[in-house]
Amino acid sequence: MALSLPPAFVKGGAESLHKQHLASKTSIGNRSFGSLFRSLPCRVSPSKLKVEDKNKRRTGFHTYVEATLADVVPTEKCATEYTLPQGEMWSVHKFGGTCVASSERIWNVARIIAEDPSEKKVVVVSAMSKVTDMLYDLVQKAQCRDDSYITAIDQVHEKHKATASDLLEGDDLNKFLSQLQSDVNNLKAMLRAIYIAGHATESFSDYVVGHGELWSAQILAASIRKHGLPCTWMDTRDVLVVAPTTSNQVDPDYVASDEKLKKWYSCNPADTIVATGFIASTKDNLPTTLKRDGSDFSAAIMGALFRARQVTIWTDVDGVYSADPRKVSEAVILNTLSYQEAWEMSYFGANVLHPRTIIPVMKNNIPIVIRNVFNLSSPGTKIRRESIMEAEDSELCVDSVVKGFATIDNVALVNVEGTGMAGVPGTASAIFGAVKDVDANVIMISQASSEHSVCFAVPEKEVSAVAEALQKRFKQALEAGRLSKVEVIHDCSILAAVGQCMASTPGVSATLFNALAKANINIRAIAQGCSEYNITVVVKREDSIKGLRAVHSRFYLSKTTLAVGIIGPGLIGGTLLDQLRDQAAVLKEEFNIDLRITGIIGSKTMILNDLGIDLQAWRELRKEKGEPADLEKFIQHLHGNNFMPNTVIVDCTADSEVVKNYYQWLRKGMHIVTPNKKANSGPLDQYLKLRNLQRRSYTHYFYEATVGAGLPIVSTLRGLLETGDKILRIEGIFSGTLSFIFNSFSGQETFSQIVTKAKEAGYTEPDPRDDLSGMDVARKVIILARECGLKLELHDISVQSLVPEPLKGCTSVEEFMHKLPEFDYEISKQREDADSNGEVLRYVGVVDVLANEGRVELRKYSKAHPFAQLYGSDNIIAFTTKRYHKQPLIVRGPGAGAEVTAGGVFSDILRLASYLGAPS
Ligand code: ADP
Ligand code: ASP
Ligand code: MG
Repeated sequence: MALSLPPAFVKGGAESLHKQHLASKTSIGNRSFGSLFRSLPCRVSPSKLKVEDKNKRRTGFHTYVEATLADVVPTEKCATEYTLPQGEMWSVHKFGGTCVASSERIWNVARIIAEDPSEKKVVVVSAMSKVTDMLYDLVQKAQCRDDSYITAIDQVHEKHKATASDLLEGDDLNKFLSQLQSDVNNLKAMLRAIYIAGHATESFSDYVVGHGELWSAQILAASIRKHGLPCTWMDTRDVLVVAPTTSNQVDPDYVASDEKLKKWYSCNPADTIVATGFIASTKDNLPTTLKRDGSDFSAAIMGALFRARQVTIWTDVDGVYSADPRKVSEAVILNTLSYQEAWEMSYFGANVLHPRTIIPVMKNNIPIVIRNVFNLSSPGTKIRRESIMEAEDSELCVDSVVKGFATIDNVALVNVEGTGMAGVPGTASAIFGAVKDVDANVIMISQASSEHSVCFAVPEKEVSAVAEALQKRFKQALEAGRLSKVEVIHDCSILAAVGQCMASTPGVSATLFNALAKANINIRAIAQGCSEYNITVVVKREDSIKGLRAVHSRFYLSKTTLAVGIIGPGLIGGTLLDQLRDQAAVLKEEFNIDLRITGIIGSKTMILNDLGIDLQAWRELRKEKGEPADLEKFIQHLHGNNFMPNTVIVDCTADSEVVKNYYQWLRKGMHIVTPNKKANSGPLDQYLKLRNLQRRSYTHYFYEATVGAGLPIVSTLRGLLETGDKILRIEGIFSGTLSFIFNSFSGQETFSQIVTKAKEAGYTEPDPRDDLSGMDVARKVIILARECGLKLELHDISVQSLVPEPLKGCTSVEEFMHKLPEFDYEISKQREDADSNGEVLRYVGVVDVLANEGRVELRKYSKAHPFAQLYGSDNIIAFTTKRYHKQPLIVRGPGAGAEVTAGGVFSDILRLASYLGAPS
């Protein structure tokens, strides 16, 4: 790799440093082997090992000692002792694994540090990305007696060798490489011991996995020197002292660490110090770690020890986002966070910051800034004390009550329930005592105020031990029935909303729960702390991302995103897709509705796309990229889409098979919009089941276009019913085809001539008998009748068919059309009779609510009647109600054709969006 090196570097390096001593210390240090072996479960005396160790160092390890980097000095004694200055002159920077993932990135970090204007700096560095995982894996392999650990360690060796060779030269390079070599030799010896024992103590493991930081710190320190800035590195095991806690964490010992730091600094008075993240020592001088992702914590402790002005955590994102940007693409950067908010966010899973990071800096009021190493132009997120924020950001609560959302996956809920718990003091403490005995970590607790149940979440991997401990602890109570159960609900996730303004704003939980309900997500448990910095809910694991997106968009974007699946891209479906294409941008910009067509399925092919099909090219895409149609797969794709909180299926077919799935789809939480009449006019019990489900759930089923295409008929009827009006009768011309035929039947042409004309113009179904039979009108009648509450089946509707009885059996359309003129006489006669009475013939549907019946028939209307005034294929529907008694409420307009039907479907989709929260 060709790196352009600043000229200053060439001479820089170790020589340019302060008084430096040749080290007798190595990356393992004096203490290491002896103390490490002390923790081995073996009978060899530690003193013996220590002697062996020392001998080894004198002989075999000699070169290793000599090869130690020149900037490493022993902590024991030094010629001149310097006093550690503490305070504002220090700034702490922490670089995460991704920041130092390659030689280019390390070089970039070195440049950032070289250019940082702070007077004095501490640079805490993580291991190169993935290296800690690789090291843990080595230990794992060795423990399992899998000798591939040998090749695996060679890979780690190679990675660092290559990186150092890219970045360093001359002495620095040679020294690092021989240090690396001897570290690898030691690790091999250590891993061999683990391999033989088939077991690694915690110290062994911590010793091994800490090497990633030891190496990255040395490479980075040398790279900074190469940028011309004098710099030394610190093995933080010589400085940081921590004590393990029962909950698999560590507590820093500030007094001991402070003392050690002063001692260290007295011999290493550098203005720029590169310190290893992640690693530390116990008070017994055993190597330990701050646990996974602990380098952030290291940096915060360093900030506190140096009393630094600021701690900057450099990572690969622009700051703290309102939600994990990998899960919510619309997440936004938060400019400021209070310590508490940052703590809550990180505790509940925002891994941009290790949760324990906050404590040391908060104590000393040191701000933390999260910044992106790959985007220096972004100012990042500043985390600091509340009161400063309150003064500056008083507007903040208005804009975003909830600051952010985070999730923790892989948790299980434990529910301890029973009437015997109420009013019995000490039950909760007995429960949590049992949980503590198995060292499980309780993430959240929720107790019903009736005290009948205590419910809490623990990591999934700890739940079986917890359940067992509880069964044991409460054996007697369970047997006596005082406790009814200790129940475990597996595969859950915690979803937390965080924000300190929540405390002063009513309705936050309601909005949160509502957003989850609208996304059809069931909440298993709820907790809200008294601090009201967070509201936590437990949901099923599979709902976690969907829930996160639903609540995020509800609070942050007020944008309603809908995944749309279209079934049947024929005449109506295709027109709808074109309308959606033309209107999408306006909807998004002006109405905050983001419609994404994530699937289109026809009878033969389908296309699927998680983020939305390009509607400019949907026809071509279907032709070129379509896969064989598979309705089940199509539904799975729509339902499994975690990117969008809401899904709607638009059934543009006339298929009675498709509608059989509606119930299941609604149950899964997918909304349905359709112009297909088959569901609402099908068997009554199925219809009632569907409507019942719709009423009980937050899932919507809209079917305006089943009657009168785009005309507001169903919605008008609903409006009347919901406002307490009483429907007496609905009467109307519901068929565009029959409307056209009778509007044209004025005596100039015969009935059969008009039918032929209508057929040729494409107004009829391919077989005109489908229109003339009256069944289509009967379906509309029954839809409206059922909407009014009548419990009728399709066969209860009396239908006067206009297909002459003898022609019902015609085997072909041609035969029917050919024979139809034979029956012209009869209908012409009816028309003439009516005409002579000043009347016209109209083919109508009637819902007679009072008589509890529906009819479809040819009726006569006075020429003055609104039904006689129609043009073309218009529909007209008259509602006679208690309110509209003298003059019926009339809805009239074009009620057939692809454009208006698709328009009706489209408006149902928008109605759905507004139900889901889009602004009106
Ligand atoms: P590092 O190696 O630098 O410590 P981490 O992987 O530990 O980086 O943390 C940074 C990552 O945290 C980001 O890449 C981002 O994907 C993830 N993350 C999760 N939640 C959030 C959030 N709310 N804001 C920012 N990043 C987040
Ligand atoms: N390298 C350690 C880890 O991967 C610590 C850190 O990066 O924060 O867990
Ligand atoms: Mg991290």
